[in-house]
Amino acid sequence: MYKQYSSYLKEKYGEKVYKLPISLKETNCPNRDGNLGYGGCTYCGDEGVGFENLSSNLSVKEQLLKNKEYISKKYKANKFIAYFQSYSNTYIPLDLFKKYVNDAVLDDIVDISISTRPDCIDKSYLDILKEIKENHNIDITIELGLQTANYKTLNKINRGHSLCEYIQAVNMIKSYNFNVCTHVILNLPWDNIEDTIETAKIISVLNTNFVKLHALYIEKNTILAKQYLNNEFTMLPLEDYIEKAITFLEYLAPNIAIQRIIGRAPEDVSLFSNWGISWWKIKDMIEEKMAKEDRFQGKLYNYGCNKAIKKFD
Ligand code: SF4
Repeated sequence: MYKQYSSYLKEKYGEKVYKLPISLKETNCPNRDGNLGYGGCTYCGDEGVGFENLSSNLSVKEQLLKNKEYISKKYKANKFIAYFQSYSNTYIPLDLFKKYVNDAVLDDIVDISISTRPDCIDKSYLDILKEIKENHNIDITIELGLQTANYKTLNKINRGHSLCEYIQAVNMIKSYNFNVCTHVILNLPWDNIEDTIETAKIISVLNTNFVKLHALYIEKNTILAKQYLNNEFTMLPLEDYIEKAITFLEYLAPNIAIQRIIGRAPEDVSLFSNWGISWWKIKDMIEEKMAKEDRFQGKLYNYGCNKAIKKFD
């Protein structure tokens, strides 16, 4: 009923592939350090949305080897993705970036995945990755946080960029033939179902390869937590998240692989996380409803710039 990332990886690499997260101590975010703004996105906690990583005091290689040892033993894994996860990993000086991504080139790494913001993309960084791709036959994926196509909501959550930077970044990345993974938060309280649909459509027509869907959680001591405690907004019920996730998938191009249909949330430091239910139960609920109502990814993928002239085919 939807294209799962794990199946995509298995088909492409012939076996299961596992992500090895990496944190860099030099990375920050231009939306937190004063370059573009202070305080960051209203929901952003101290770890820059990378709460499950090893310490950034370990080198890139140490982090990879440590995580690899654990995952290899647990899952008998042979192939891995080096995943630069926390903060904005292209928001560091070019020479450091070059060193770190080259440090991640190990025999069993099949893809280097770099998480960043749509306003931290530039050809000089992409050229370094192109060299790695060509010299080592390693795939490159850039993960971009969009969250929503509704630029008014982007303002409200203080993203520090609008839709335009996302469109420009995807076009630039795709010109290098790299993969793009887009992160979306489906239950932003200021978005309605039309925003959900438009987000799915824009991601699809830009030929994004992968999508990660998240539910908004409210981490303590964030701007969002303050607004929540002041009753400035209310969280949507779980049924709305489920309906939005299904509608999003119906409008999404069928070839886009879904890396995640809902994220895990750090319960101990949150005021609100996943409606107090485990993420996999919510995943089951989404899949059960899709099966029951005969809904599937791409069911409503019938739009695009040639929609009106299809009748002449
Ligand atoms: S872009 Fe990421 S790291 Fe930067 S403020 Fe927003 S959530 Fe935090």
